[in-house]
Amino acid sequence: MSSEILTKALSIKDYLTQVRRHLHQHPELGMKEYETTAFIHKELTAMGIEVVPIKADTGVLGIIQGEKPGPATVTALRADIDALPILEKTGLPYASKNEGVMHACGHEGHTTILLGVAKLLNSMRDKFSGTIKLIFQPGEETLLGAKSMVAAGVLENPPVDTIVALHAWPQIEVGTIGVWPGPYMASADKFTFKVFGGGGHGAYPHRSRDPLLAATYAVQAVNTIISREVDAADKVAISVCTIHGGTAFNIIPEEVVFTGTVRCHDNTVRNSIKEKMERIVGGVVAAFGCGYELDYEYGIPPVVNHPEVIKLVSQAADQALGENHVIQLDRPVMGSEDFSCFLEKVPYGAFFRLGVKAKGAEEMRVHNDHFDFDDDALPVGVAVLTQFVLNKNQS
Ligand SMILES: [Zn+2]
Ligand SMILES: [Zn+2]
Repeated sequence: MSSEILTKALSIKDYLTQVRRHLHQHPELGMKEYETTAFIHKELTAMGIEVVPIKADTGVLGIIQGEKPGPATVTALRADIDALPILEKTGLPYASKNEGVMHACGHEGHTTILLGVAKLLNSMRDKFSGTIKLIFQPGEETLLGAKSMVAAGVLENPPVDTIVALHAWPQIEVGTIGVWPGPYMASADKFTFKVFGGGGHGAYPHRSRDPLLAATYAVQAVNTIISREVDAADKVAISVCTIHGGTAFNIIPEEVVFTGTVRCHDNTVRNSIKEKMERIVGGVVAAFGCGYELDYEYGIPPVVNHPEVIKLVSQAADQALGENHVIQLDRPVMGSEDFSCFLEKVPYGAFFRLGVKAKGAEEMRVHNDHFDFDDDALPVGVAVLTQFVLNKNQS
């Protein structure tokens, strides 16, 4: 037997499916979601929902005011709206019409779900108090979009108390959600080392300082940071992912550049890595008579789920979907999500997973050219988020 909210969500399934497929067919890359932005704007306006003008080229902020007397709680829900540079190979009738661009991470499903939540909540204004902010965020995949929305002031005026987002997860079945309290996804920072020596002829290495040899030792030394500099109980990933240098087989180059990424679940550990890297790489390249420059860019912080909000999300799912539809995820992940930029400002928030694996079907992979978001998951996401808001904006 389905709950009142799930029944309502199921009653708009045709609308949801149609919207999701339309968005799937018209994907746009991060920070260039112009048509998607216009589409969301049009849909919200057609529902009679206020769209707040913001200083951002793409992305939308919708606002719904509750009409029930009660506390002025401000709850925000976030959906990401961008697609990926992937050539779609699903062969679906609603496959991408924008060649080389594809919704392969389910963001069109997230956008659709938030529009569905908007539709339901807008028809139930008398059932909740306070304010609901609907944040349609651009450029999640580029890790630039959340920052742009925060800078545009979407968390202010009125200030957001609680923020929640969901993301498709092909490892769990449609009809379920997955949760993890505490640190769940990693920060994402980037480092660029320039190692320089003094180039020369390959036949006379003793007359030059070889940055290439120094860089190869430095790359190995970077890989010792996790095993010798970080508590084994901390979750950290450090990977050198590019190395470039040299122009010919017989010339020792002037400089070699290598870049990589640092992923952490804890900000204290995260803030300690740059110093360690500089000391180790600096020492190693100095041994070869070489110098270095380090450009260390702090990207986005870790996603840290507030345990209380995870509990509220789980309760909402129990009410909306029935018991036993909430799965405790088996582990946190080292991937990143710029929803963390919102959580940094509003720590009372949570990011949870929405099952999109069809029963008995093989598991699909996100960021894959065959990925498709299961339409059956749409009303499930709508029901959980709507129930969450109805509960939150009562007390
Ligand atoms: Zn993605
Ligand atoms: Zn994604």
